[in-house]
Amino acid sequence: MAILGIDLGTTNSLAAVWRNGRSELIPNAGGDYLTPSVVSVDEDGSVLVGQAAKDRLISHPERTAARFKRYMGTQKVFQLGDRSFRPEELSALVLRRLKEDAECYLGEPVTEAVISVPANFAEAQRSATKRAGALAGLTVERLVNEPAAAAVAAHISEGDEDKVCLVFDLGGGTLDVSLVERFENVVSVTAVSGDNRLGGSDFDRAIARGFCEETGIDFDRLDSRRQEMLIRQAETCKMALTVQPMVVMSVDDGTIRASLPMNNEWLIRKCSRLFQRMAAPVQKVFRDAAIRMEELDELVMVGGSSHMPSVRQYIAQLLGREPASDSRPDTAIALGAGICAGMKA
Ligand code: ADP
Ligand code: MG
Repeated sequence: MAILGIDLGTTNSLAAVWRNGRSELIPNAGGDYLTPSVVSVDEDGSVLVGQAAKDRLISHPERTAARFKRYMGTQKVFQLGDRSFRPEELSALVLRRLKEDAECYLGEPVTEAVISVPANFAEAQRSATKRAGALAGLTVERLVNEPAAAAVAAHISEGDEDKVCLVFDLGGGTLDVSLVERFENVVSVTAVSGDNRLGGSDFDRAIARGFCEETGIDFDRLDSRRQEMLIRQAETCKMALTVQPMVVMSVDDGTIRASLPMNNEWLIRKCSRLFQRMAAPVQKVFRDAAIRMEELDELVMVGGSSHMPSVRQYIAQLLGREPASDSRPDTAIALGAGICAGMKA
């Protein structure tokens, strides 16, 4: 029976399965590997999960919950319309969706999973994650640390040598930096640091503000709906800049009318403070583990924001080495969790 490897993310979640000697990603019913970790309750009481729920973040914010992973293990209650949910119940809805999509794709029932969690998750957060699994009908005997999963996907367990791997995970709202060591065939996280207020959405905001600055719009005086619209558009431009050198951000909603060309140099200028904040946690893990940067064997960059060429360049420069060539920012953790599920099976 198949065991799933699940990356239960703050922004997006993914599932993988060990099949035919390799870890394979499972597409959801919409054909995507990434399922947004968003839950929304419809006017008629029905529950939406994933992209359909994400689409309602702007139109029905009071009925939609996102980023609830941050509250795992706490008593926080999310009120969506007339229903209330604890963080682990919201996570369970996401897990159930992944499980059902996997069953549909694999054509067999799935009852077991290995779920990845941040290395710095405390016991309460870990047991809440296991309870979420149980609520979704999944037995979760093992949790795996996200950076360990990413390092395993980057082949740290192959070959015979001991290795030191730095995992730089820049997601939507958080930066997690970890040293993962393989010593005598045991893979473990030996140092963690990070910034739980630094992620892709900070870049979106900085770009939106930069756009306003240069087009004479007072961002702070816009209503929250317009601010949100600009931030969304900024995110689209940010993503475009990972695949093309230049993009034009333009807004015309009747009241605001402006357009501005931007490139990666512009982005680096407008986000310079955010880049500076990435260095400290990287330096700290080396200090804490008493390892010199020169001793590093592998740099693994994961998290959606590691797609950004400016982020890759900044970290590559800081460490004096290039990230692993086949690194897959969005899928490495799920693929690694899939490998761990395979080891378990
Ligand atoms: P989390 O770990 O928080 O669930 P992810 O690792 O999925 O988050 O990262 C989400 C973030 O990555 C978002 O801020 C999104 O804008 C950003 N992102 C995703 N794809 C790209 C891309 N191609 N270029 C730049 N940023 C991206
Ligand atoms: Mg993540």
